[in-house]
Amino acid sequence: MAKVSINLATGSIQKEDIIVGIDLGTTNSLVAFIDPDKNPRVINDAGKGVLVPSVVHFGPTGDITVGNEAKEFLISDPQNTIFSVKRLLGRSYADVKDYQNFFSYKVIDDDTESLVKIKVGDKFYTPIELSGLILKELKERAEHALKTNVTRAVITVPAYFNDSQRQATRDAGKLAGLDVLRIVNEPTAASLAYGLGLNPEETKTIAVYDLGGGTFDVSILQIQNGIFEVLSTNGDTFLGGDDFDRAIADYWIEKNNIDKTELANNRELTQALRLKAEEAKKALSHQSLFNEKLCEIWCTLDRETFEKLILPKVQQTIASCQNALKDAKLTVADIDEVVMVGGSTRTDLVKKMVSDFFGRDVHNELNPDEVVALGAAVQADVLAGNRSDILLLDVTPLSLGIETMGGLMDTIIPRNSKIPTKAGRQYTTSKDGQVNMKIAVYQGERDLIKENRKLAEFELKGIPAMPAGFPKVDINFILNADGILKIQAIELRSGVKQEVEVKPAYGITDDLVEQMLMDSITNAKDDVSARMLIEAKTEAEQMIYTVERFLEKNGQLLSEQETNDTKQYTETLKAALSSGDKDLIHAKIDELNNLTRPFAERVMDVAIATAMKGKSIEGGTE
Ligand code: ADP
Ligand code: MG
Repeated sequence: MAKVSINLATGSIQKEDIIVGIDLGTTNSLVAFIDPDKNPRVINDAGKGVLVPSVVHFGPTGDITVGNEAKEFLISDPQNTIFSVKRLLGRSYADVKDYQNFFSYKVIDDDTESLVKIKVGDKFYTPIELSGLILKELKERAEHALKTNVTRAVITVPAYFNDSQRQATRDAGKLAGLDVLRIVNEPTAASLAYGLGLNPEETKTIAVYDLGGGTFDVSILQIQNGIFEVLSTNGDTFLGGDDFDRAIADYWIEKNNIDKTELANNRELTQALRLKAEEAKKALSHQSLFNEKLCEIWCTLDRETFEKLILPKVQQTIASCQNALKDAKLTVADIDEVVMVGGSTRTDLVKKMVSDFFGRDVHNELNPDEVVALGAAVQADVLAGNRSDILLLDVTPLSLGIETMGGLMDTIIPRNSKIPTKAGRQYTTSKDGQVNMKIAVYQGERDLIKENRKLAEFELKGIPAMPAGFPKVDINFILNADGILKIQAIELRSGVKQEVEVKPAYGITDDLVEQMLMDSITNAKDDVSARMLIEAKTEAEQMIYTVERFLEKNGQLLSEQETNDTKQYTETLKAALSSGDKDLIHAKIDELNNLTRPFAERVMDVAIATAMKGKSIEGGTE
């Protein structure tokens, strides 16, 4: 009998474990789910608030607090209070050493190439463990609020996160007891929250502007057939609302004639000023004047002054938008939608300048600090199968590979590989002096490429002329989280390189995938024999090519009889080739091989003897 559970919070029957969406932010984190009315909603557990500051505090007795409570310790116990751990996720010490002063806690590693650790008291923590603690807090809040187990999640990361940072995020989820079904790009999630990309027919270009607490990024996305592609990203990992707070605090310090060196020794006052500055900034989002007293300091700020203070920072973000457009080879006119993300986009000047730059109204109907989590919940809902109309890839449904000799499919990424994934293989040339190599990319399960779906074809040009088999061509397939396949071909000896990108899921439906899989099963036996025949033919062709080249170059080393025999055996093999009988081809290959093997040895001997006389022979041995 199937188990039916009832969600006590919503009173509805719950078919399955709920999947939550999590925004694991640098400054704040939050968790969202899809409510019974099918709307995404952020979780506010027991009125603790929606935003969970991404801060972890380690108390003297080993007690760990996360969120608002932990944030209090930023002033009183900075060494044991970890903030901005997201900046360290999946990073090595070499990556972060330039800004280690930013952290008030100890970031270390003995080996600069391995991942960083954080020292708290006499214990070491990895950023994965610390992020895991934040995720665990979110999981518990969700469980408490929804009164159900939460074991599966979608977690968002910035679009510019690399593989190592994405993997670290997954691992953090695992530590928190979450099965991370998908890592989603933050701008993708934000777009989903606005329903962009949910209509498979629509093609749109979107700019997502994300100004958070300490980081800024802008991404240009293209949506096609429900697939998101990141065309470009730009930004500054040290620009955000904190800079606004700092500018305000500095202004007050100036206005009140506060001695800066004295203030530098008073950490608590410095921090209190910063917090007051943040309060003023937020207040000015809905009123025009802020006027309060902190100890003996007058904290007065009107909106006009505030906007003057932050103008240079906001201008910087606009320059980034310009660069992002340039990298995507687009202009403002190509952008169909602009989505505002991050708490700092509540500031009027930011909204106005972004809207002016793009020349259109921006999406800010949803809370900008919630929109990423809301979109993650939508994505979770899609993965749960509740929105079957869209195909958002989790695993690659069909194998991806390239064409090799004789029209065979050589699979590089097998079907059902989890994405993102990466795989590669080395190839070489089949002809002497070959300077170009055709690389044709296919998708499907059949042995013959002609039965599969062609995705791309390009040529690696400029390979230096070398004997067949000498060039080493690495072909790498990189399939990212958005389902974009990047194919890189590099000739290792010369460094010649070529790269293309394709969308394997473009124009493919579930039905077609199913059909292709069925075909591969029904044709399995025929395919195997076809492959074996082609492999035999390819081997024979290579053999004929080599033998004919041999006769051209080294014919003088053979007797007339031997030359005639070789030619005749070669002709017999050619005849066998067209017979389509793989056993016959193999037999003739063996015969030709047995005949010519001693000749090759003879050439070797001559080469060695000649070399010992200090001369080299033309053609040489390979
Ligand atoms: P992150 O993505 O970096 O975790 P958030 O998107 O939560 O950060 O943004 C946090 C920033 O938003 C902080 O600098 C905070 O001061 C700022 N912020 C929050 N509310 C407002 C507001 N009403 N006006 C201006 N800035 C705000
Ligand atoms: Mg954010």
